[in-house]
Amino acid sequence: MNSVAAARVNDLLASYPDFPQPGIVFRDLNPVFADAAAFRAMIDELVEHHDGRFDAVAGIEARGFLLAAAVGYAADVPVLAVRKGGKLPGTVLTEEYDLEYGSARLELEVGQLPDGSRVLILDDVLATGGTVAATARLVDRAGYALAGVGVVVELSELGGREHIGDIPLHAIVSI
Ligand code: AMP
Repeated sequence: MNSVAAARVNDLLASYPDFPQPGIVFRDLNPVFADAAAFRAMIDELVEHHDGRFDAVAGIEARGFLLAAAVGYAADVPVLAVRKGGKLPGTVLTEEYDLEYGSARLELEVGQLPDGSRVLILDDVLATGGTVAATARLVDRAGYALAGVGVVVELSELGGREHIGDIPLHAIVSI
């Protein structure tokens, strides 16, 4: 992919070997978020790629929130926050999953959208795919349809794409 957004992400993406633990190369998108033109290009690409195919976005805590808020605003659609375990009140759905490092729990409040709403899942990095797969299960269990997945960076060697089945995935850059 050789889009404007991809070029800006490739320029600005910072990589930190052995963070937060030995053997992990942490991909830091904060320099992309901190560059207004790069941020706009990234959001525009996420909106345009999935244009007309989603009724709502779901952002995964925490960096996915930044993407989902901007895409939701730009596309004039509702925004769902998929939160880490124990932070949401009311009736919530829960999914446990494995991370590239450690394990975690994600939750979604029920009853926020009409049944069958087409939800686009957004996050910064696709690594092993466990986070997105758990979010997809939450979206499905909540009664919504999976419109697709948008990420800024796909770490292709980790094979995350294989863990999300046939849900259409768009990565601005794949490294
Ligand atoms: P995974 O479930 O393995 O696909 O991990 C994806 C989630 O963990 C995303 O929310 C990322 O923000 C974070 N993550 C996992 N690995 C990395 C990495 N190498 N660099 C930056 N973020 C990562």
